[in-house]
Amino acid sequence: AQPVLAVVGRPNVGKSTLVNRILGRREAVVQDVPGVTRDRVAYDAFWSGRRFTLVDTGGWEPDATGLQAAVAAQAELAMQTADAVLLVVDATVGATATDEAVSRVLRRSKKPVLLAANKVDDDRLLADTASLWSLGLGEPRPVSALHGRSSGDLLDAIMAAL
Ligand code: GDP
Ligand code: MG
Repeated sequence: AQPVLAVVGRPNVGKSTLVNRILGRREAVVQDVPGVTRDRVAYDAFWSGRRFTLVDTGGWEPDATGLQAAVAAQAELAMQTADAVLLVVDATVGATATDEAVSRVLRRSKKPVLLAANKVDDDRLLADTASLWSLGLGEPRPVSALHGRSSGDLLDAIMAAL
C-alpha cells in the first residue's frame, strides 16, 4: 500500500489549500468559514515519481469537547493511522494555544512529523516563521499554499520523511 500523509492543524490555517496545492488541482474544499471540510478526506497524490495518500482533516463542529480537544484527537488519530503527519500552522498568527496543544500530542509521535508555517506569502513574513521552533517539532518550513511559494521544498521534505 502507498504511504499515507495526514495533514492536521486548527481550522483556517490553510490545510485544504495546501492539500489542493500538493494535488495540483482544486479538490479539497476551501472556504473563508472555518470548519468547512468534513472530517477526513483521502486523496491520491503524486510527487517525485512516488504515489502517496494525502488525508485532509477538519470540519469539527464546535461541540462539548471544544476545538482544542477535537484538533488534538484528530492529531492522535493521524499519528496512529498515517505514516507521517504534517502539522500546518498560520505563520502570520504565530503559535496559538491550540497549536501548542496539538504539538504536545505530536511530540510523542514515533512517526515523522513535519511542521509547515503557512501563509508566508512573501519574504517579509519569513521572520515570523522562526518563532515556531518553540512548538518543539523541529524546523518550521515556510510555505504559501495560496501562491505556491516553497511548496516544492516542503514536498521534497515530505517525501524524504515518508
Ligand atoms: P483549513 O480550514 O485549514 O482547511 O483552511 P483553508 O484551506 O480552508 O483556508 C482558510 C483560509 O486561508 C482561506 O481563505 C484561504 O484562502 C486562506 N489561505 C490558505 N493558504 C493561504 C496562504 O498561503 N496565504 C494566504 N494569505 N491565505 C491563505
Ligand atoms: Mg479544510
